[in-house]
Amino acid sequence: MDDLQTVIRNLAAGNRILANEGIVDAMGHISARHPHNPRRYLLSWARSPGLVEPEDIMEFELDGTPVKDDGRPIYIERPIHGSIYEARPEVMSVVHNHCHDVLPFAITRTPMRPAVHNARRIGDEVPVWEIRDKFGDTDMLVTTMEQGRDLVSVLKDNKATLMRGHGCAVTGTTISDAVQTSISLKVNACAILAAMTLGEICYLTPGEIRAKQAGAASLKGFDRAWEYLCRRAGMTP
Ligand SMILES: [Zn+2]
Repeated sequence: MDDLQTVIRNLAAGNRILANEGIVDAMGHISARHPHNPRRYLLSWARSPGLVEPEDIMEFELDGTPVKDDGRPIYIERPIHGSIYEARPEVMSVVHNHCHDVLPFAITRTPMRPAVHNARRIGDEVPVWEIRDKFGDTDMLVTTMEQGRDLVSVLKDNKATLMRGHGCAVTGTTISDAVQTSISLKVNACAILAAMTLGEICYLTPGEIRAKQAGAASLKGFDRAWEYLCRRAGMTP
């Protein structure tokens, strides 16, 4: 199997995993940068992620134009993906979701900061993009590259950004990375929301967020979480 077929297969699996883990529902999407052409990305046609098969994956230019328009409907919020790939050459996968557990942090001033160890990967803090600042009253969707680039101006070099009143955009250096960071955002959100009923929250320190992971070398490139998540979603890794 060549690189492209492997990426397409993993992208279909990523769709299924995000649905299985409650990160996406009927809406939301995950893309991957094209392994042979950094000016293109791969994304399903406008299907719900839990139903996506490798045959559903299409190829897009960074501006969101389908390379081969075969008449299938396409996601309207493609600019989230294209604008991030345009600005962040190291990003190889992007997730956009409206995860219900993350939404409270996108509609209040309570910051999303890592409080549990496996949320170190989300970074110091997840900024909040306010669409109204530049575009006034909208339907809240990111439908133009101008809006996507404005989102990227807030995302900066962070792993993710919340989108006020809407959801979030998550980046990854691999499909697995973007999927796992999306899951970590949910786990962290759930832990903070539950903890709020008990008292003051003790967040991770900047040093804890950056500390080298013990035993990372012993993993020998094996992605234990990816294997687990694939199997849980009924997929073969
Ligand atoms: Zn959306």
